[in-house]
Amino acid sequence: MAYNLDDRLVIGVASSALFDLAESDAYFREHGEEAYRRYQEERIDDALRPGVAFPFTRRLLGLNDLRPDDPLVEVIVLSRNDPNTGLRVMRSIERHKLPMTRAVFTQGRSPHKFIGALSMSLFLSGNGADVVEAIRAGFPAGHVLRSAAEYDEDDPSLVVAFDFDGVLSDDGSERVYEESGIEKYMEHEASHKDEPLAPGPLQPLLKDLNRIQKLEERRKLDDASYEPRLRIALVTARNAPAHERAIHSMREWDVNVNDAFFLGGIEKAKVLEVLRPHIFFDDQTSHLDTAVESIAGVHIPYGVAYEVAAKERVDIAVPAAVAIELADEERAGVGEVEDPERA
Ligand SMILES: [Mg+2]
Repeated sequence: MAYNLDDRLVIGVASSALFDLAESDAYFREHGEEAYRRYQEERIDDALRPGVAFPFTRRLLGLNDLRPDDPLVEVIVLSRNDPNTGLRVMRSIERHKLPMTRAVFTQGRSPHKFIGALSMSLFLSGNGADVVEAIRAGFPAGHVLRSAAEYDEDDPSLVVAFDFDGVLSDDGSERVYEESGIEKYMEHEASHKDEPLAPGPLQPLLKDLNRIQKLEERRKLDDASYEPRLRIALVTARNAPAHERAIHSMREWDVNVNDAFFLGGIEKAKVLEVLRPHIFFDDQTSHLDTAVESIAGVHIPYGVAYEVAAKERVDIAVPAAVAIELADEERAGVGEVEDPERA
């Protein structure tokens, strides 16, 4: 019988998100593709070390014990490795006892086309260009940033934290802010507080997580000793009165969070250090730069925040005349080294 993905939370992970490939990466850059293949073959039974998205992935898969006969969560390797070099990745998955058996390898090609076909609510990769391409094609994807975060391996709880604008919602409000400044933005949000924003790239992921939380609540009703493991937080720079529109939008979409932080300019990293999410999604790298010292951070290169940041980066380096063209290329991922293990 066909394995149906519709009723599950399906996530795609590139090997660069799941494992620490710093060593492999350095070898590839120094010795090239042929030698790299041999390097991986010789080490096929050396398990790769956990990477930034590993704690999140392992805990998420742990929730499958809520419905063991019909897994709630399916995590699929989605990698631009070739199937041969991918062997070490699959063996590492086995060695780490992750219940993942499905994989897609697209030798050197960007794998994002399969996100929709496999009903994925999220694709995580350490390859920024692949993620930009996926987002531009309208798929939910995040760039896993290098991080020094460490988590307690014996703790089964899973905390997932989301930014609001440009992550759960689209960038409609953020465009007002960029175009007209903070005062006009505040007025605009207050006068539109009852008007829900359109869903952003990761809103369906939150819906899927909420479905799992409902099963945990049900389990708690049957067994008072059961401790729900999944907790969801909203960590946004919105504050009063702009917070109302976020709350109203989530109510309209029928999604829920357990904790909400309306920070209005307070550095997000301060809250995240205490909250210790196993993954935090934000569309602005300025909110992630410090945070990744203590938690796993994922950049969503979506909407006006990303467009502005991409343009500013090239403005510093090159004359304005070629800046726009370069920003467009960067958004398309052109010019990135095609690099199989950064996948
Ligand atoms: Mg945002």
